[in-house]
Amino acid sequence: MERRFEYLTSPQLKEHIARKSLVILGIGTIEEHGDHLPTGTDLFITQRFMDDLRERLDADGSVPFLTLPAIWTGYSAKLMQAWPGTIRMDTRTVMDMMRQIIGSLAEMGFDKIMVLNGHGHHAELLRVVARELSDDHGIAPAVINILSLGVKPYNAVRKGAAGGSIHGGEDETSVMLHYGYEIDPALYTDVDHVKVHTDFVAGDNYIGSTRVFWSTWHYNPSKTGLLGDPTPSAPEAGRVLVEACLDETVRFAREYWSFRPGG
Ligand SMILES: [Zn+2]
Repeated sequence: MERRFEYLTSPQLKEHIARKSLVILGIGTIEEHGDHLPTGTDLFITQRFMDDLRERLDADGSVPFLTLPAIWTGYSAKLMQAWPGTIRMDTRTVMDMMRQIIGSLAEMGFDKIMVLNGHGHHAELLRVVARELSDDHGIAPAVINILSLGVKPYNAVRKGAAGGSIHGGEDETSVMLHYGYEIDPALYTDVDHVKVHTDFVAGDNYIGSTRVFWSTWHYNPSKTGLLGDPTPSAPEAGRVLVEACLDETVRFAREYWSFRPGG
């Protein structure tokens, strides 16, 4: 069955609205990812994850659903422009765009909308948008930060420190290797070349902790555009991370779609 929203006709969408199908919308971005990863890494991971998810949800068969194409741009911290490749929108532009896209879906009659976010800097923005949409339309959009759902199994297989799995680090690089993206090993395994930055986001201090929030990217000491350590990356760690995220997302989709209080 065709699951891609943009391939369906209005009458076909009407049937999906009657069935209260779940709509899945992805958002990545294009920004520099160091010397070894393409600028579209967040978009590429989002798209591939959505392709995998379509297959999983079809095989599962318990949730009627549709997917929309992943959005390719968004907000990045200004300092990411120090390296070529970052296309940067204002936070409010991203929020308005998402509010209007999801608002259109709500006005059409869809009431379960799941956003798959492939870019760290969008997490807070999307939570605010979800609250605004609840106020405006009485819906409760869900926001999933794709790679964060598989952290536990990934932590058991990653080779580097936790702080190495940030921007362009072991997690994203391993996922890109898993998805078959060819990277010259010299570009991510040579420690001197990649100049890893893990101290800044790991440890017992408040920098990079979840106990308080302060936007420490501003102080990023990176010389290469990386914030993390890609040197121990391997496709197997990427596979474990993606599989765990897919399992969790399918589990969540079932619960989210069937949750209808009072109905
Ligand atoms: Zn990224």
